[in-house]
Amino acid sequence: MKNAPSSTAANDLSASVRYLKGVGPQTAEKLARLGIQQVWDLFFHLPLRYQDRTQIVPIGSLAPGEEVLVQGEVQAADIQFGRRRMLLARISDGTGLLTLRFFHFTARQQAGLQRGTWLRCYGEVRYGQGALELTHPEYHEIEPHQPLPTDARLTPIYPTTEGVRQATMRTLTDQALLRLQQPSARADFSAEGVLDGLQELLPDTVLAQLKMPPLAEAIHYVHRPPVEASLSDLAAGRHPAQQRLAFEELLAQQLSMQQLRAKNRAQRGPRIAVAGALRQRLLSQLPFKLTGAQQRVVDEVIHDMQQAHPMQRLVQGDVGCGKTVVAVLAVLQAVEAGYQAVVMAPTELLAEQHRQNFAQWLAPLGIELVWLSGKSKGKVRTAALEKIRNGEAQVVVGTHALFQQEVVFAKLGFVVVDEQHRFGVHQRLALREKGRQQGSAIEGSLWPHQLIMTATPIPRTLAMTAYADLDSSVIDELPPGRKPVETVVLQDSRRDEVVQRVHQACLSGCQAYWVCTLIEESETLQCQAAEEAAAQLTEALSDLRIGLIHGRLKSPEKAAIMAAFKQGEIDLLVATTVIEVGVDVPNANLMVIENAERLGLAQLHQLRGRVGRGSEKSNCVLMYHAPLSEQGKARLAAMRETSDGFEIARRDLALRGPGEILGTRQTGELQFRIADIVRDQAMIPEVNRTAGLLMQQHPQRVAAIIRRWLGDAARYGDV
Ligand code: ADP
Ligand code: MG
Repeated sequence: MKNAPSSTAANDLSASVRYLKGVGPQTAEKLARLGIQQVWDLFFHLPLRYQDRTQIVPIGSLAPGEEVLVQGEVQAADIQFGRRRMLLARISDGTGLLTLRFFHFTARQQAGLQRGTWLRCYGEVRYGQGALELTHPEYHEIEPHQPLPTDARLTPIYPTTEGVRQATMRTLTDQALLRLQQPSARADFSAEGVLDGLQELLPDTVLAQLKMPPLAEAIHYVHRPPVEASLSDLAAGRHPAQQRLAFEELLAQQLSMQQLRAKNRAQRGPRIAVAGALRQRLLSQLPFKLTGAQQRVVDEVIHDMQQAHPMQRLVQGDVGCGKTVVAVLAVLQAVEAGYQAVVMAPTELLAEQHRQNFAQWLAPLGIELVWLSGKSKGKVRTAALEKIRNGEAQVVVGTHALFQQEVVFAKLGFVVVDEQHRFGVHQRLALREKGRQQGSAIEGSLWPHQLIMTATPIPRTLAMTAYADLDSSVIDELPPGRKPVETVVLQDSRRDEVVQRVHQACLSGCQAYWVCTLIEESETLQCQAAEEAAAQLTEALSDLRIGLIHGRLKSPEKAAIMAAFKQGEIDLLVATTVIEVGVDVPNANLMVIENAERLGLAQLHQLRGRVGRGSEKSNCVLMYHAPLSEQGKARLAAMRETSDGFEIARRDLALRGPGEILGTRQTGELQFRIADIVRDQAMIPEVNRTAGLLMQQHPQRVAAIIRRWLGDAARYGDV
């Protein structure tokens, strides 16, 4: 990180905020926590919302929910005793009465509220006891006969941190904006490519085409919107000034991902150019032919692996489109070239299933497969680790715990990360880094190729943003003969009917899942719910063979139950959402999900993807508990109306927003200051085009744009 130049020039925007009035060492430290170090950082610290203090609203026309500026004469001010002591004042402006309520107050404050005093107050109007009121309004005394001007601009509310008040944020941005008006603050792009203030970094052609205001104008507008600005446009983020900034912020994000991609391209990877004998042998043993889409993606992957830089490819495809076999074929390429390959899954259950599938495919080819999970212990573990270290293990399958432990590969050349949607962006990059360390064990320090597979499709615009550092392939075709799953939505008052229906289906030779859900993330409670359901169903349907699977069973137990279900030894499998990803039992063609309203769309779609894998027609019953929320209704309707994972992903994005979908909400990734991927998705293709243009024609501006929006600390780490 560069230190702030120690200039005190009144108009130097790169100066430290220390040179602004009112900033001592302590405030400077707090501001740094908000990412504000230099004066220009203040410009990019954007308001969260606005208040309208430009006009005084008559008390008689107030409505609850509004934030308003009012003024009136104190009629009375009394302390009310009771469960909680409080100060209540009543003011009137001749059009009506309004109560001011204070739970915390001083004697001096009370004394200041004498009858006849005039106050100007700002706060949110609520219904109180029989009248409208403001709780803890901001207020000050005024002279009724000397009218005080109201604000000339809307009041911005800034994101802030403990100990930095809104008023401070406002005076600081005021000072910064004043400096902006000095002509020399808009100096030309300096030769070294150092960002200077609010210089326009978008090419003129782009600006002209987008018909957006220049940066400095946009910044000024969003910090200090004029009286006539539409509060509702601003609240929705649709004002051209906001859109201008959102565009540049998305551009900054895109550029940083593109840089990551460029960095990756500059690395060396193992060049894997083999005849493909193993691959051909497997293909000839498969009971099916690859779909056109699978074939295309396999070709893309093989082509990538032949390059001298490491592959970073994302494979998307709907549930059941056959991603696993694509991964195996790629694994065989690596093995044939003498490299080790590792396959990582997000859950033990799925990893276990991969182990079985891979074993079944690889054993006939004489390939040594090693299994390693977080739960492998003792001798088994030591033996596995040894085989991985000495290179005997050609293919390693396990959970992603694999990479978090001291596993050392002899010659790792290929990494498959399955069901990537479970891993956040950071985790993905950490895996890549770990891969590099492993690769450095190979002579010449090579980065292994990586294939990343998602379980659920990601909406295009989101993929273009969050996965812009990866190449991407889509398997947009299901194996032939699949019939869409017929989905019905029923209230749980009809549970008995559903139980009978399951009974009939199983008696006629079908296999079914019965999935129990809970709102709480508590695995214990979820398991209890499943245990209870299993007990009930066993009692009601004593002629069926009923199994139970949940997360608290030991791995071998889970594996045994899944195997029994797969063998047809269990008719009805009662399960928690542990079966959500990857589980593949083609003969199961009925699924009941209890309390389906509690699950998100992506999860419901994943679960439903467990059926409809065979050639028989499949059904899914989504049972809900009334009343349904609006979101709940929308989700269940989406499930009933479509089984297309890409369409579901689009609806999910609109319902939940990008953070939830990418599983990154907690870590704050992909959180923007002003952009919103859902609202602004229409501009994303243009953002990406502009990113390409900048990288090619104005490379010196790239770092400046990234720095401006993402800060010095590169958001995605120095990978
Ligand atoms: P997903 O893409 O959800 O991971 P899987 O890889 O688990 O899907 O494949 C789902 C099922 O489809 C498996 O039983 C697999 O053997 C089968 N399958 C894969 N490709 C084909 C194909 N081309 N034709 C027929 N069945 C296939
Ligand atoms: Mg899969």
